[in-house]
Amino acid sequence: MKAHRNKWVSADHAHAWHPFTDQEIWEGEDPVVISRGEGSWLFDVEGRRYLDANSSIWTNIHGHCHPDLVAAIQEQAAKLCHSSYLGLANDRASELAEKLCSFFPKTLERCFFSDDGSTALEVAFKMSLQWRQQNGQGEKTGIIAFENAYHGDTLGAASVGGVSRFIKGYAEAGLQVYRVATFDDLLALPQVVIESASAVVIEPLIQGVNQMRTWPSGMLAKLRAWSLENGIHLILDEVMTGFGRTGAMFACQKEEVIPDFLCLAKGLTGGTMPLAATLTTEEIYEGFKGADRTFYYGHSYTGNALGCAVALASLEVFEKEDTLAEVERKGAYLEGELRKRSYVKAIRRVGLIIGFDIDGCGQDFCLKLRKRGVLTRPILNTIVIMPPLSITDDEIHFLLTELPR
Ligand SMILES: *Cc1c(COP(=O)(O)O)cnc(C)c1O
Repeated sequence: MKAHRNKWVSADHAHAWHPFTDQEIWEGEDPVVISRGEGSWLFDVEGRRYLDANSSIWTNIHGHCHPDLVAAIQEQAAKLCHSSYLGLANDRASELAEKLCSFFPKTLERCFFSDDGSTALEVAFKMSLQWRQQNGQGEKTGIIAFENAYHGDTLGAASVGGVSRFIKGYAEAGLQVYRVATFDDLLALPQVVIESASAVVIEPLIQGVNQMRTWPSGMLAKLRAWSLENGIHLILDEVMTGFGRTGAMFACQKEEVIPDFLCLAKGLTGGTMPLAATLTTEEIYEGFKGADRTFYYGHSYTGNALGCAVALASLEVFEKEDTLAEVERKGAYLEGELRKRSYVKAIRRVGLIIGFDIDGCGQDFCLKLRKRGVLTRPILNTIVIMPPLSITDDEIHFLLTELPR
């Protein structure tokens, strides 16, 4: 047995099991144990600080422990933490549903809450398929998805994803999926496939887990036109791109697209609590009215009051701090500085979502960065730079100084 540096590492190595982690390697390493956050920084139990250049897996928006978000959680916790959304409403969830729909007046007018990005997608898939069943289109049972897409890890969402190392063994257990690589591939699909498809799902503008691959500009608008022509629902997975990362509040706004389903999670609570929302149209909603048309879906924590309260506070901070205004400037500056470095082989960026490729091992690169006080994670040989939108210019300079020249 290795001597552990503190009791939390001992307990972790003895009892915890981490996501997407080779536990054999993990047990041989000395993990960082985080216990505090402030702004763009995380602190470990030994007091060392790290710049959170990965926004705590793409969730954090306004920095850690933003006073307005902390106050919203504290105030709500003292009033009501959770009550069931089954057969009951709650004040915060009502307000948040109204607020989220207000971004899409007269189009996306219904909000269904769940807990995570994966569940936001499950909801959209199930709604699309069930709507077909009970509205005379039961033959539409397929989902069209893009190769190397990532839509989450629950069984249904994973089966739609296209990252082979994540779906091996599960793909067959899930939905009926047709995968295409490009928009042109989609146009070339046989008519039988198009007629049997219920929905097409995409991560708009940029595929996150697929090493931050961007779509050609204008592609999303073309996809929307195609889906309308062919009577196929458009599901947008904005779990990563939502809440300002791209410079717009939602990526779909950049191409003036309104989908049939909009899936939101990660940044919804500013990176504080698990909460997700699936927005949809009145047309879909109406198709669930009447006998035997109930949408039988829900989780114990659906409509959680704490999550909704902090999501509302986060949206207020967007207004108060004019968060979106600086996203493109910061992203473009970072990109420009990174481009000057010879080890950066390729770089892809939308707003403050940046991926750059290196020749060496991404994992080693990030471990070295961690020793220099910068936290991020690679995707294979792509280094992700996705800081909180609130990152300051000084912090950007720190990041650039600690990155190899
Ligand atoms: C993270 C992510 C998901 C899954 O969200 P979870 O909250 O991890 O379940 C789905 N789609 C995209 C694009 C994501 O980035």
